[in-house]
Amino acid sequence: MKASQFLISTLKEAPADAEVVSHQLMTRAGMVKKLGAGIYSYMPMGLRVIHKVEAIVREEMNRAGSVELTMPVIQPAEFWQETGRFEKMGAELLRIKDRHDRDFVVQPTSEEVVTDIARQDFRSYKQLPKNLYQIQTKFRDERRPRFGLMRGREFIMKDAYSFDRDEAAAKTSYQVMAEAYRRIFDRFGLRYRAVAADSGAIGGDLSEEFQVIAATGEDAIVYCPESDYAANMEKAEALAPAGPRPGATNPMVKTPTPGKSTCADVAALLGVPLATTVKSLVLATDEFNEAGEIVKSQVWLLLLRGDHDMNEVKVAKVPGLNAGFRFATGAEIDAHFGCKPGYLGPIGLKKPLNLVVDRDVAVMADWICGANEADFHMTGVNWGRDLPEPALVADLRNVVEGDASPDGKGRLAIERGIEVGHVFYLGTKYSKAMNATFLGEDGKPAHFEMGCYGIGITRLPAAAIEQNHDERGIIWPDALAPFTVVVCPIGMDRSPEVKAAAERLYSELLAAGLDVILDDRGERPGAMFADWELIGVPHRVTIGDRGLAAGQVEYQHRRHTAATQVAVGEVVALLK
Ligand code: ATP
Ligand code: MG
Ligand code: MG
Ligand code: MG
Repeated sequence: MKASQFLISTLKEAPADAEVVSHQLMTRAGMVKKLGAGIYSYMPMGLRVIHKVEAIVREEMNRAGSVELTMPVIQPAEFWQETGRFEKMGAELLRIKDRHDRDFVVQPTSEEVVTDIARQDFRSYKQLPKNLYQIQTKFRDERRPRFGLMRGREFIMKDAYSFDRDEAAAKTSYQVMAEAYRRIFDRFGLRYRAVAADSGAIGGDLSEEFQVIAATGEDAIVYCPESDYAANMEKAEALAPAGPRPGATNPMVKTPTPGKSTCADVAALLGVPLATTVKSLVLATDEFNEAGEIVKSQVWLLLLRGDHDMNEVKVAKVPGLNAGFRFATGAEIDAHFGCKPGYLGPIGLKKPLNLVVDRDVAVMADWICGANEADFHMTGVNWGRDLPEPALVADLRNVVEGDASPDGKGRLAIERGIEVGHVFYLGTKYSKAMNATFLGEDGKPAHFEMGCYGIGITRLPAAAIEQNHDERGIIWPDALAPFTVVVCPIGMDRSPEVKAAAERLYSELLAAGLDVILDDRGERPGAMFADWELIGVPHRVTIGDRGLAAGQVEYQHRRHTAATQVAVGEVVALLK
């Protein structure tokens, strides 16, 4: 590829709504362009990265015996009514109507359609096992689309579905996929962890998430450095004993911080970047006696509104909550604030959670508040004059760092991750709902045992950037780079020697099978280097008059601080 023919459009400034570095850098590098909330064009430079991700996924899925197909993006609602998901899925499912007023959905995944294919085409146990996958556009009307491609509404997912004759075979299929996922994520060259995840009502332990480790990740993951125990927080909490944990101490309760807490304090305590968008926070306070026993518990509900003024932060005291916590309904909160109905509420949780009162102050992030539709930035929040000083702010968890690991092999550590993949044993949930059967060896119909397996194709580049960047821009692992090598001629228009050498090297690198771009735009060296450092191409070869006279060019890896001289004839061998 020649840069003059390609579309390169870099920006000095990131857009104001880009909160995390991957969103900032992908926009500045001209990889994505926002069209609407959570809806992006994949620009040529970004699409090349997406294609690299897809190629690796495709190769490993094929190797693992999965077969590619493509299912419709727009799907008739009747299939979704069969499983009940048309109603159950709630607002995340985008429903549309055609000219005849018939209902359709835009696929958020495709269990229904693939199960319909199976019930038509897989008639006998002899045709099993089967595993089908697609790499396709998905739409989820996310409550909080944010962080660019990380949580889009329209995005690309690889979704695979396995069909087996019995549970044992289905579990084997699951393991084959979990293995394939390890190969896939190893090839991306990222630091990741496979963690046990909640398998919901299905039970068993056959659900794992693949989490790319990053401080900006939305998920908390719990692991034991001394063993291979790793789970997401949801799963870890489901296993942990409920209720107040004996011996939990709140050192700050005895030495409350004087003065007001700032937004930065809250962000630090929550372990999130300062510019994190929050809708609402819940605070609970306890008072302890000398013996460390709770003598008084108060739960404060602090609602932060998008249009709030510093002095108008609303605070409600929820009485009578000594032993637990109950989330107020929207109507109660509206009544408390004297607002018109529906003004602040409803408030809900993703799942029920016990707020234990062995902490003096608990702040819970990542809960859903429908109070205000527009997100806002947490800037300069203070606690208001009539509030007690926050003594300690802790994530609302009954699993904390230093707890004994469930396998008894060490202490737990917690880090943040980005969910880039998910493997899940489904059992007969969908096949029963849709009456999808095959003829078993005994001549009787049996329901398919299923599994489903997702990878966030467009989320992955964002996760990779969170892990690989510096102040100058992106640093792609070779496997994901839009181009692996850039040839930068200096003064190409003045020097026929440089031009000829650059073009020759470019052809040789292409012939050697390298994904190379020749920067023939005629930019000044400073601007040219800045562009490629921002875009994150891992290998750069610079050709100038002086070096060339001595038969040399400059090679620099994106991670290195200085270039090395290389003989012109050795460049191809160096990069191969
Ligand atoms: P999350 O917990 O982040 O909402 P999920 O658990 O809802 O993700 P799955 O249903 O497991 O997602 O889908 C499989 C994969 O699709 C996820 O592991 C993730 O990588 C990707 N994915 C899910 N939602 C989005 C989104 N809104 N934008 C980009 N990728 C997504
Ligand atoms: Mg989700
Ligand atoms: Mg998830
Ligand atoms: Mg998931």
